[in-house]
Amino acid sequence: MPAAAFAKTPPMPETPARLDNRSDTPPIAPADNPLLLEDWTGGVPPFSRIRAEHFLPAYAQALAEHAAEIAAIAAEPEPPTFANTIAALELSGRTLERIDNVFSLLAGANTDDVVQEIERVISPQLARHWSQINTNAALFRRIDAVKATAEHIGLNAEQKRVIERYHARFRRAGAALDGKAKGRLAEIMERLAALGTAFSQNILADEQAFVLRLEGEAELAGLPDFIRESLQSEAAERGIDGYVLTLSRSTVEPFLQFSDRRDLREKVFRGFVMRGDSNGSTDNKAIVAEMAGLRAERARLLGYVDFAHYRLDDAMAKTPAAVRDLLGAVWRPARLSALTDRDAMQALLQEDGGNFKLEPWDWRYYAEKLRRRVCDFDETAIKPYLSLDRMIEAAFYTAGRLFGLNFTPRPDVAVWHPDVRAWQVSGSDGKEIGLFFGDYFARGSKRSGAWMTSIREQRKLGGDLTPLVVNVCNFAKAPGGEATLLSFEDARTLFHEFGHALHGLLSSVTYPMIAGTNVAVDFVELPSQLFEHWLQQPELLQRFALHYQTGAPMPEQLLTRLIAARNFNKGFAALEYIACAETDLDLHALPPPHPGDPPLDARAFETASLERIGMPAEIVMRHRLPHFAHLFSGDGYAAGYYSYMWSEVLDADAFAAFEETGDIFDSATAKRLRECVYAAGGRQDPAEAYKAFRGRLPTADALLRKRGFAAPAAAVK
Ligand SMILES: [Zn+2]
Repeated sequence: MPAAAFAKTPPMPETPARLDNRSDTPPIAPADNPLLLEDWTGGVPPFSRIRAEHFLPAYAQALAEHAAEIAAIAAEPEPPTFANTIAALELSGRTLERIDNVFSLLAGANTDDVVQEIERVISPQLARHWSQINTNAALFRRIDAVKATAEHIGLNAEQKRVIERYHARFRRAGAALDGKAKGRLAEIMERLAALGTAFSQNILADEQAFVLRLEGEAELAGLPDFIRESLQSEAAERGIDGYVLTLSRSTVEPFLQFSDRRDLREKVFRGFVMRGDSNGSTDNKAIVAEMAGLRAERARLLGYVDFAHYRLDDAMAKTPAAVRDLLGAVWRPARLSALTDRDAMQALLQEDGGNFKLEPWDWRYYAEKLRRRVCDFDETAIKPYLSLDRMIEAAFYTAGRLFGLNFTPRPDVAVWHPDVRAWQVSGSDGKEIGLFFGDYFARGSKRSGAWMTSIREQRKLGGDLTPLVVNVCNFAKAPGGEATLLSFEDARTLFHEFGHALHGLLSSVTYPMIAGTNVAVDFVELPSQLFEHWLQQPELLQRFALHYQTGAPMPEQLLTRLIAARNFNKGFAALEYIACAETDLDLHALPPPHPGDPPLDARAFETASLERIGMPAEIVMRHRLPHFAHLFSGDGYAAGYYSYMWSEVLDADAFAAFEETGDIFDSATAKRLRECVYAAGGRQDPAEAYKAFRGRLPTADALLRKRGFAAPAAAVK
């Protein structure tokens, strides 16, 4: 999952604050509020003294303070300079940042009803606050003036980059537009937000309307215990005795994989792919059409030919053509691989006595049968070798070998929950680099998923500050002090989030705007996905994948089977993903509609996109347009769904740089990686940063090998 900084919850509708009525404590006067009273800038927040009730008054004061600082910068009588404009912006809002970082951490990792209510109150206020700053015309005139003289006033490269980033941020928000255009843009943004909410609610309504009751062993045939248990708890939640299937992906996919009942698979499949496409009151196709039109208009107002160009101009990919090249390079071999799998499944179903053509609702079922035949292994055999403590050690060891880091436990440091552990991180010269917090166990007060966040980001401006970096995971804690055992997927998650953590910890820049993970969206997963590669190396596993009771290393055959299973059915996964990325780009390449044009038909549009790329009939897009929440529930991934694969190209190619030396810890390569990627934040354009590390831009070759498309993976006997 991306770093939390990039996955902030979209602003929710404002609700009246009812905190004072709900709380037993009287309203907190600022004089008693540790969030305002104590400045922990150089230390750790006083978690034990912070209560939820402290946040709203602290936010109120911090927002007002920041707004006053911004007003003063915009109204500065002296001519604009780097110091009185850019550096002043970088130094502003420190109280807000300090409070917001702590609140975001707790809202994700240690929340309750009161915290959630504060979130509903504060998120629209924050959204408005930032939008007012980023569209402030007087401020933008000053930034523009500093940018115009940047070449002649003796600034260093980092300062020039920070000016560029500020300029882009304001320009892309519409700060440069005249009053009329700015007014239209604000209307568009408001309408898009309302449509996004309606889109999500329609999907939810369709999902809630579908309830399939399964009765008797005949309807449960083929389902393993873990699925039966989740269907039972779905039923219990509805006060029904027995088994109920709903339309969440985490239920539908395993059902399609295991259910022997072809008729039920078809029923569930159709319900799932038709969400938002019912032609009834919850249909999303008109919303899709209107949002595409509004985005096209927004892009034109901001001076771009279409929304895809607007989005990609600020990403590493830069142009839709560059993204299409990558998607095309993977599509061709992935399609061949998927067609080969399809034929093998068709043969298998006939061997089993089936007398029908493989359909989309059969794919996962026969893929599972084929997987068991080709590379059988049992996940439960792996777990005893992957204890949480050993995997943390393995991550620290890798960081030590690559970057010379040392991790010392700091049980004395204040934390927000007794399960949280803290380590002091120091370099090979003994110099303190920062603090790392691991919050690994699932609990009711924590959101699902895994992420990295910062209590404080690294910066040098206004005095050296070392980072305080957090990893949050949701591993099931073993009872009674037993060793907590991870699945391989869990261990991969631990390495992934730790890679993000290193991006925050190793950051070494002056300006906060470009520190750590503040990089382009299609670059931010490089440090995390790259770090995962070390986990899968025999050298690491032999050393750390030790049986939690006997200490014996993981048998090699088990490891080989594990890796083979991970590469299985990769053609299918690539196709259902790329079809979405291509359709996303097609839709966001449309011009704004002319008045009087017939409205876009989202279903016909999707069909045409799929025909263009040659999508096999047996595979359906992972997200069809009428329920493609990445694109329409918010703005984040519109014309950006490609970025998952873009990052994967980078991480595969970057790891190949180590493999090519014959040493996965090669010190010269590691030194370049640290300087150009992990320490560099957004100091450079991402493509330049990558070239500085690798000596060239990435190619898809390593990705094709990693996904098993370069040469057919040999079956494991
Ligand atoms: Zn991530």
